[in-house]
Amino acid sequence: MRIVTILNRSTKFKRFVFDSARFDDKGRILVSVKPRKNSKPQCSRCGSSGSTYDTARKPRWFEFIPIWGYAVFLEHYMRRVSCQRCGAVIVEKVPWSTGKHHLTDIYRCFLAHWAKKLPWKEVANSFHTSWDKVYASVKYVVEYGLEHRRLDGITAIGVDEIQYRSGHKYLTLVYQIDTHCRRLLWLGKERTRKTLNDGLTELEDKYRQKRIVAGEETPASLLHGIKFVCSDMWKAYLHVIGKRLNSAVHILDRFHIMQHFGKAMDKVRAAEAKRLKQEGQDPVLGKTRFCFLKRKQNLTTKQRGRMSELVKMNLRTVRAYLLKEDFQRFWEYTYATWAGRFLDRWCERAMRSRIDPMKDIARMLRSHRELILNWFRAKKRFNGGIVEGLNLKWNLTVRKSFGFRTHEALKTASYHQLGELPEPIFAHRFY
Ligand SMILES: [Zn+2]
Repeated sequence: MRIVTILNRSTKFKRFVFDSARFDDKGRILVSVKPRKNSKPQCSRCGSSGSTYDTARKPRWFEFIPIWGYAVFLEHYMRRVSCQRCGAVIVEKVPWSTGKHHLTDIYRCFLAHWAKKLPWKEVANSFHTSWDKVYASVKYVVEYGLEHRRLDGITAIGVDEIQYRSGHKYLTLVYQIDTHCRRLLWLGKERTRKTLNDGLTELEDKYRQKRIVAGEETPASLLHGIKFVCSDMWKAYLHVIGKRLNSAVHILDRFHIMQHFGKAMDKVRAAEAKRLKQEGQDPVLGKTRFCFLKRKQNLTTKQRGRMSELVKMNLRTVRAYLLKEDFQRFWEYTYATWAGRFLDRWCERAMRSRIDPMKDIARMLRSHRELILNWFRAKKRFNGGIVEGLNLKWNLTVRKSFGFRTHEALKTASYHQLGELPEPIFAHRFY
């Protein structure tokens, strides 16, 4: 069977045929593509057919999916079209490659497919190509996806930040967290008011454009459709959400709040361990960090024994731990009113505890009381756990294995991994 036969079966073009295949002197397979008889070239700018103005003397090569370790190129003598509509002579449009690329669209999709599963460098090595070509391929797929993705039906979003690289480099991420669709909607540099404002504006504009193209004269607002927003207590986010999504229920959720408890526990324990050491007492708090961070029911038998010993001692760390554990009951309430009463009582106790990190938490809970109680008003449906799951995925896929070099590459990788983007469809699945 000839290569041309396989290609003709898997990859059909209306106006072109695969003509012949051969090896070149470097061991690459070249497949020449020819226009069908009597087919006219199409203008690459406007798409209308015109007569051939001239044909290039040298062929152009387009990289195709390699087979059995051989690189494959489609070879075509490009024609120029006298386009009546454009009133100019323009290079022809070819169905296997959009834009000025020397990679065929199918090859770009092929590389991008593997780039979702493997580090980009690994993909480049496996298919004897370069990191830049893999990046260009992912970029093509992502751009296509962003252009073709649907933005309707978004009712719940989560806003969060991710710290990346050493130092204080942050990214702001906006996720859709609806039950039927969880994905990355947008991401941008920094975590300022401007970042989030820009993100929301960009999404809104894109949505309206799409509705106008779909024939709506006065399109609805994407932001007005959002009923729930989850975020942490970062001031810039609180400000922007309060202003631009003021009809949505803003939820300060369980996950982010318990994160503060974890940090407070660390502070209390470290300070007390230091004090005991200075006073020359037994280092009873050594290696207990996880005992205090875990929930009581998640402790191992050994940790349990250790804890029951510690609880007998009059330690600040233990009192802080008991306050933290007691606060877990807060999440078990069903109604916001009762949860609110519990919250107030708990805060009073914490303020009397004389443990500063716990008092800080009480102050923070008091000042965000309403937003926290929104978690109950939203019937506990949306929570930071969902956002956290997406962040975790980001960490596992984008951060660990893709070695981004620029912000642009990082952005592309993030949308590729978490955007749930639609992909171009081909008649045959090569992968
Ligand atoms: Zn034209």
